Amino acid sequence: MDFVMDCLGVNENGNLSIGGADVTELAKQYGTPLYIMDEEEIRRNCRIYADAMKKYYDGNGLVLYASKAFSCKYMYKIALEEGLGVDTVSGGEIYTALSAGFPAEKIYFHGNNKTWDELEFAIKNDIGCIVIDNSDEVDRIEEIAEEYGKKVKAMFRVSPGVDAHTHDFIKTGQIDSKFGAAIETGDALKLIKYTATKKNINIVGIHCHIGSQIFELSPFCETAEIMLSFMEKIKSETGIEIKELNLGGGFGIKYTEKDKPIDFDKFIEAVSKVVKEKAEEKGLECPFILMEPGRSVVASAGLTVYEVGTVKRIENVRNYVCVDGGMCDNPRFILYGAEYDAVLPERPTAKRCEKVTVAGKCCESGDVLIEDIMMPEIKKGDLLAVLATGAYNYSMSSNYNRIPRPPVVMVKDGESKIVIKRETYEDIIKNDIL
Ligand SMILES: *Cc1c(COP(=O)(O)O)cnc(C)c1O
Repeated sequence: MDFVMDCLGVNENGNLSIGGADVTELAKQYGTPLYIMDEEEIRRNCRIYADAMKKYYDGNGLVLYASKAFSCKYMYKIALEEGLGVDTVSGGEIYTALSAGFPAEKIYFHGNNKTWDELEFAIKNDIGCIVIDNSDEVDRIEEIAEEYGKKVKAMFRVSPGVDAHTHDFIKTGQIDSKFGAAIETGDALKLIKYTATKKNINIVGIHCHIGSQIFELSPFCETAEIMLSFMEKIKSETGIEIKELNLGGGFGIKYTEKDKPIDFDKFIEAVSKVVKEKAEEKGLECPFILMEPGRSVVASAGLTVYEVGTVKRIENVRNYVCVDGGMCDNPRFILYGAEYDAVLPERPTAKRCEKVTVAGKCCESGDVLIEDIMMPEIKKGDLLAVLATGAYNYSMSSNYNRIPRPPVVMVKDGESKIVIKRETYEDIIKNDIL
């Protein structure tokens, strides 16, 4: 039986298993809705990237796990143990990483509008590198660094003008973007020249990230070429030698059978060729390479188990399968029409004979998890697992309708443990003041 997640199987009871653990048993033990993640799968993915870095760049680089995909103390611990750095996008993520014992120097800080408090927190804690977005930020960093007597290591978010074929909301490489400064318009160079006038900022690199859930090699290769040309231009116009090149993340994963991802290793191999070739051609030293995979590290390691509360069959219109979660634990359908596959953990191989729409329990008609999917016949009380929810699910979850967030259970060698507790009603009201 083939599932969209490699870490799934069918066990001797005929039930769905993840990382050797029975999904049905876990649902009984921990309740639903429940996020389950396979730790070995996450570690395998980390190693693919770390190994590729060694293989194709002779270790002259660092893989940063883009932690917005799934951020919690335990995940930072895994990233650290696997030798990765992390990419963070807020004070909260930095705080979580530091709380997990993550070394500050391996934390990179991104964002198009980092606040004064966030920058101060990052600088005070000697965060490894700040990825500068705009000139107002440059002013803030300079002032804070001066106050604390620090020299801040920085790179620049630039937009290479590459159109990655993905959803508009997760595209970031084009000129019309709230992220960074465009190379094409000259804004990126202007930003770098401006920063060079500041004495507390140490310019080390440039960064780009063209989007997410990308399945083609060519936009990545094209981007690498543009970035190398830009490095040459920076050197000739300012004399600054760019030592670090951060090529972002965005590698696509398999959500449904329609998705045909390329081996992550192949992306890195192809891009490394471009980087090395172009560096040599332009007489530049091969830069220290950074990469920032997020989704592709965790998405395929996780699933969400729900219990079906009711099935509403509206004749000749639609069959709604209503589960005990929804947009509050997975807003990706309502955000950008994301597609998912689902399996019944107690009957994983049953014939898919009925078209249904899996809906949540929130008060929004758009609160859907999967629209029009063929499933075996479903009845109330069945468990239903939505697959490949390891990325951008827990991290995007909310308390909409004052629904407590589900827990995250990590499975390893058939054993399970809670790494994020289920929220309680007390958690929901803990900041309310009467
Ligand atoms: C979101 C993001 C990533 C990770 O993207 P994935 O598609 O999850 O791999 C990497 N870098 C930056 C700057 C990002 O914003």
